Amino acid sequence: MLKAQGTVLEIDLKALKHNVEFLKSRLQPHTKFLAVVKAFAYGSDSIEIAKTLEELQVDYFAVAYVSEGIVLREAGITTPILVLHPVPEYFETMIAHCLEPSLYSHRVLEAFIAVAEDKKQTHYPVHLKFNTGLNRLGFSQIDCPKILSTLENKSAIKVTSLFSHLAASEDLNEKQFTIQQIETFKTMIAEMASGLGYTPMLHQCNTSGILNYPQAHFDMVRSGIGMYGFGNDPKFNPFLKPIATLKTTISQIHTLEKGDSLGYNRALIATKTLQTATLPIGHADGITRAYGNKKGYVIINKQKAYIVGNVCMDMIMVDVTEIDCNEGDEAIVFGPHHTAEHFSETIGSISYEILTAISQRVKRVFK
Ligand code: PLP
Repeated sequence: MLKAQGTVLEIDLKALKHNVEFLKSRLQPHTKFLAVVKAFAYGSDSIEIAKTLEELQVDYFAVAYVSEGIVLREAGITTPILVLHPVPEYFETMIAHCLEPSLYSHRVLEAFIAVAEDKKQTHYPVHLKFNTGLNRLGFSQIDCPKILSTLENKSAIKVTSLFSHLAASEDLNEKQFTIQQIETFKTMIAEMASGLGYTPMLHQCNTSGILNYPQAHFDMVRSGIGMYGFGNDPKFNPFLKPIATLKTTISQIHTLEKGDSLGYNRALIATKTLQTATLPIGHADGITRAYGNKKGYVIINKQKAYIVGNVCMDMIMVDVTEIDCNEGDEAIVFGPHHTAEHFSETIGSISYEILTAISQRVKRVFK
């Protein structure tokens, strides 16, 4: 199928390799590296990214949903895959595709054991998730005795790892909270390890945890955004390279005279003569309406061109009055210099959101 014309998301696989190598350089040699490739590898294309990461010998992948794991398996990915948010109706499918569940409540733990027993599994790898303060998914410390009694004499599954997720590892004003999360995790680990009779693999850090809390690297770390080029803190910018560049092309240039209106709802009325360029990218491609009316800007011939009027479904218009440009010229929505982080900040958002919002009709090209 031909994808949206004139707009591409270019993915720099060398930058991906560079970022993984940088993140790994912060780890002890024994610490394993889990690559988070959920949400189409943060919008980049999970198959190409996972293949490249498999060449780099990452130890584990994580996806959010079972369907994302199946896509990887069907593409030939053989590295272990942790599914962060599985639901019981797909447990049988998970086993069929060798996908390892994060089990975060008694309900899902018991349901998974039942399916694993039914499917005659022995020591099927599972990962127990603990809530240490994010209050999203996970067991609490008070759950430990019941987990241990549920696991007693159950050979269908094997607890391969115990893990938790940090709530604010990027925010050094929340250092006390993060340190408390790390300590809470250690207490839970101790109780679980003594009850199980062995210590499973332990992991708690996301990208900012890797960068800011080396004392919490444990046996494995889980990186997403860092691999894609962002460290959530300008001090890491020199070490990480954004891998994605969203490029489009000027379809047409219009001259508006004073009093002319632009686009839907006539959101802009020209107060002087203006030149606008129309670009083939809109809210159906991931550029939400919030970027309109001079919030976001793109780069044309090295200059800022603000998005004017309302964002349309398949188009935006940018102000090029002061820019020397022609129809057919390139416009960079975000890239290595005007980064996804800068672009998203113009509407008070974060790099994660814009990267994962770029819709599937935008062609991904790899270099
Ligand atoms: N671990 C879990 C459980 C996550 O949900 C995520 C991302 O949301 C990550 C790790 C990766 O986080 P980051 O992209 O900040 O590295």
